[in-house]
Amino acid sequence: MLPSRLSRVIELFARLPGVGEKTAQRFALFLVGGGSETAAELGQGLVELGTTVRPCERCRNVAEVDETGRALCTVCRDSRRDPSVLCIVARIQDLLAIEKSSAVRGRYFVLGRLLSPLDGIGPEELPLRELMQRIREDGVEEVILATPPSVDGEATALLLAQELGGKNLRLTRIASGVPHGGDLEFADQVTLGRAIDGRRPM
Ligand SMILES: [Zn+2]
Repeated sequence: MLPSRLSRVIELFARLPGVGEKTAQRFALFLVGGGSETAAELGQGLVELGTTVRPCERCRNVAEVDETGRALCTVCRDSRRDPSVLCIVARIQDLLAIEKSSAVRGRYFVLGRLLSPLDGIGPEELPLRELMQRIREDGVEEVILATPPSVDGEATALLLAQELGGKNLRLTRIASGVPHGGDLEFADQVTLGRAIDGRRPM
């Protein structure tokens, strides 16, 4: 009933997180009816995104690719950061939320996923080798485990504590205050700042 190219765009929008069939349809119909300028900009923006933005090669945050083809994020490029402190987070959204609270003056490592035995995600699915390399190369002394206070987040923090134990590192876990099961992304800056400041040895 709809032109096939339009159906295709609706199908693509519907793949995005949090976008259902109806919203996807609304987006697509907006773009073909009066939103054509936005459609062109969106198309160009997405094409450029694919070639200019990549995961940071050091911490897996988002990074812009530079003239030499390297992708280093703004945190990793910032020489005022304390390289001896490494804050481990599950997702880029968590990194951005913590950055807003200004509670971490060190650098980050983004796991990308959490341990989840129920979903079949075991330790081998986590980027532990890259993490160890980061710790070694940066001369990290303190590791802040800032995975969310959910079942999977706690299980991941425990695994990391085991993996990193006995390596002469100060391991700390963010304090509660962030609601249990809650996303760090949705905690307010003050709460998140307190959770980091009140971190405890693990
Ligand atoms: Zn980085």
